[in-house]
Amino acid sequence: MAATRHASARTRRRRRLFRQPLARYLAILMPDLVDPLIPLSLLEAVRTVDLPDNDFEAEFVHELRNKRLGLSDTVFAQIKRFTEAVRRKQRTDLAEAAGIARLIGRRSDAEAVFRESGRYFARQVYGTISPLTRRMMRALPTLLTRPLALRHLRRVARRYLHGSARRTGGSIMLDVTESVTRDAAPKLAGCAYYESALRELLHLMVGGVGAVEHVRCASRGEGTCEWRAEWRPHRGKG
Ligand SMILES: [Zn+2]
Repeated sequence: MAATRHASARTRRRRRLFRQPLARYLAILMPDLVDPLIPLSLLEAVRTVDLPDNDFEAEFVHELRNKRLGLSDTVFAQIKRFTEAVRRKQRTDLAEAAGIARLIGRRSDAEAVFRESGRYFARQVYGTISPLTRRMMRALPTLLTRPLALRHLRRVARRYLHGSARRTGGSIMLDVTESVTRDAAPKLAGCAYYESALRELLHLMVGGVGAVEHVRCASRGEGTCEWRAEWRPHRGKG
């Protein structure tokens, strides 16, 4: 029994070793590609924000379609295309995703759209975590759930965000080397995408997240964009 456990731990270690360099090789070989969930999350948020607010607006949806990007046929077609790419696990052009971000950046409500995009992204990746793990992260004591949450955040950062995550004391750091929303909008509004994604994902995984600070920004010439999120004890947990 002990031998089996030992062997399975070794197998897991081997698998982990194999996966890590592969992800790194992919990032080196294809730095200009990004997971289609990124542009999809941007477009889904545009659609959500642009949806008619009330019955009065709903009556004029045909007129609104010409005025609101989120209700246009173009956005509808792109959402369909990226949804299909997500299903087929086909990576997509980073420049195209950055173009969509710049288009959002021209709107007066750009920051709100980026925040909504981040939340959409977080909900989707949270959905890829197995139901058992999700239940464990909710139910087990903080001491056990935080390492589990960090492991998933590391995977998300590597797989989707061209970034990495680590823990320092009572905080979680997310470092993004290739931001899709960099310089997309004035006043660093594009960076709200990653901040909102990090906050929502931590909230969904462990329920407790405090202040999220943008500690370093590529747009300010500081190399990469980095955020620090404070762990907060979840109510009712030790
Ligand atoms: Zn930034």
